[in-house]
Parts: sequence; C-alpha cells; structure tokens
Amino acid sequence: MSATPSVDPEVVAHIDQLHAGISARQRDLLRNVACADRAGRWRDDGCRDMAQWLCGRLGISNWTARRWVSAAHALEQLPHISDALETGILSLDKVVELTRFATPESESRLIKWALRVSPAAIRRKADIANRPSLEETRDADDARFLRWWWFDDGRRMGLEGQFGAAQGAAITKALRRVAETLPELPTDTGLEPTGQDLVEQRCADALEHLCRAASATDADPEMATVVVHTTLGACRRDEDCAVIEDGPVIHPEVARRLSCDARLQFVLHDRAGNALGIGRASRDVPRWLRRQLRHRDRDCCTFPGCEMRGYLQAHHIIHWEDGGLTDYYNLVLVCPFHHKLVHELGWDVRLKGSMAQWFRPGGKRYDPGPDPPQRLALDLSSSEARVLDQRRAAVGL
Ligand SMILES: [Zn+2]
Ligand SMILES: [Zn+2]
Repeated sequence: MSATPSVDPEVVAHIDQLHAGISARQRDLLRNVACADRAGRWRDDGCRDMAQWLCGRLGISNWTARRWVSAAHALEQLPHISDALETGILSLDKVVELTRFATPESESRLIKWALRVSPAAIRRKADIANRPSLEETRDADDARFLRWWWFDDGRRMGLEGQFGAAQGAAITKALRRVAETLPELPTDTGLEPTGQDLVEQRCADALEHLCRAASATDADPEMATVVVHTTLGACRRDEDCAVIEDGPVIHPEVARRLSCDARLQFVLHDRAGNALGIGRASRDVPRWLRRQLRHRDRDCCTFPGCEMRGYLQAHHIIHWEDGGLTDYYNLVLVCPFHHKLVHELGWDVRLKGSMAQWFRPGGKRYDPGPDPPQRLALDLSSSEARVLDQRRAAVGL
C-alpha cells in the first residue's frame, strides 16, 4: 500500500485564501451585473436581456448567466447573504441557490443552515419553494367565449375571452410555459417594456407561437396557412405594400421577415395585380435540409451567445425575392428575436464556411467577447501582468 502524500498546510491555507479573494470579486462582479442590467447595457449589443449578453461576453452557459443575473438583483435585498459571499463564508454556488428563496427575514437563519449542507441540498429546497401551485378551479364552461376584432385601420387586433377554470388553468399554464422560453422581440424605440408590460408582451408572443405550432401540424395545410399578398417590388424595395389575407396591411420589411418562414404562403402580384404564381414550394425549407441546418448550426440560434433552441426559423441570407436560393449556404437558423433584428433593425448575418458571422447596423462585425485583456483594469502586479501577456501570446491573443 502506498502512503498518501501529505499536503503542505500552507497550500491548503493558500487555497482558502484564494477562494475568499475570488468570492469577494464574484460579489463585486454581481454588483456590476445588476448595475449594467439596470442601465440596459445589453440592448446596444443586440441582446434580448442581460443573461444573454453575459453568456456571449463571458462565454458562460445561459443557465449560469440567468442564475447570476437573478442573484445579482436579489442580493441587493439580502445584506447578510451578500456579506457571506463577500467574505468567502458561502460559495457563489450556494449563494446563487439561496437567493432563489431567501427573504430579508429568513436570510440569517438560512446562512447557518447553508453552511452545513451541500449546494445540491440548497438547490432542492429552492426548487420546492419555487414550484408553482395549481389553484383550485371551478367549472364555468357555459359562459366561455373567445372573440377578436381588427381596429386602428387594421393595424391592431383585439382579443377577448372567458373560460372555465379548468380550461383557464390549461391555457395559462401553456402560455406561461411558452412565454418563459420565448425571446422578447427587439424594439427600436429604446423604450423597453418592464414588469407587467413585459409579462403581457411575452404572453402575446406565446399565443402566436402556440397557434403557429398548431398550424404546422394541421392535417390540412391549406386551411392553416396564413396568406400574404404582396408584389415583387414590395419584397425588393420599401415601396408598395403587403396585405395579410383577411387582415391588415403590413410593412414590406415585415413581409420579408415573414417570408423566411415556411408556414406562410406568399402570393406575389405584378403591378397590374395579377398573381405571378410563385408559391410556397420554392422557398420552403424541406425537412432534409432543415435537418442539415440544425446539425450545422448546433440546433441553436446562430447569434453569438444566444442559446435559443426552440422556435428557430431559417433565414435566407440573400433573400428569395432577390435571387437567393433555398439551399444550405444561403440559410441560417435564427430565433424570432434575432430574425427581427436582421430584417427590421439593420443587423446582418453572413456565412463564412459553415460559421455564421453577425454584423451590426453600419457593417461592423459583432464580437461579443470581452475586451482584449490588456484593456481590462485588472489589479495585477507588473510581474503577474507579464506572465499573463506571455500566456496570451502563446494562445495567439
Ligand atoms: Zn429572414
Ligand atoms: Zn437568437
């Protein structure tokens, strides 16, 4: 039997010391995350929220980024847990889970408990505390209805309904579930919705996506297809207009975005109003090709740092109306948020080999990564900085 090598107590002390130092910096990092989130720093970089921005910039997982952002805000109301992280008493892993359910009243007691248990135990308690409860429901089926109407010259649609409690629970559960996973769509007004407005906007998007998903599996695709009537001119330039059948007039740029989606049928008309007969078949992405795109783009939106996997759309890099082909090298997978970014907010996406490259409005390449390390204000001694420089040079930075 070989003897276990003894560990120098100084090494252990050094590990503790380093971890305490890292914890203090992590607390500082979260403080800055909350601050940058409030300032909406992520909007300038085409991201849908702070977590996505962090994910792309720091190269951390989307899950971690979301937990950090939530913890960053929660810690502002939890001074004792904040101190426990800052002084290295509790690790970031434990703190992130604790902030999911701790309150100013319970935090002191929870810190003592958290010291004795594993991060997994804290996560389990947080999961239980956050589990949604199913409310008691009452049957009111007879009074159910759903109606809609167009107003504001066809620019908006109103929707009103009432359901029995059982139906209502099923509907709201599905809507909330989809809304949680859905990206917000970008706006160009700079006025981002917050709080209740944001929740309601997401629910509206969720309803649209549920309807689209239902259309995609409809046994009678003709009946389930949304038809847009437009002209070739409207698709190539910002003139003319496009009209949704039985619906409103839409902007040509919106028509272009919609036409990337195979679940819409476009009827193109010439100037005299004659249908040109160019139908959906020519722009549909066949299943075999979609599978290849999913493989190439890792079944994920191609915007750097966006890990959206559901509701992906195949965007035509050179648009179909401009001669672009429905083929492997002219299609990239994008989520609805980034699809709108590229069609209506001036961003651009191209393929280099099989890698998608994104460009800001104005043409500058979008690089989400951190600034080059030499520009970071790291508090390093000159010898540490020299070593870091050598390491960077070794990996070609
Ligand atoms: Zn597109
Ligand atoms: Zn995306």
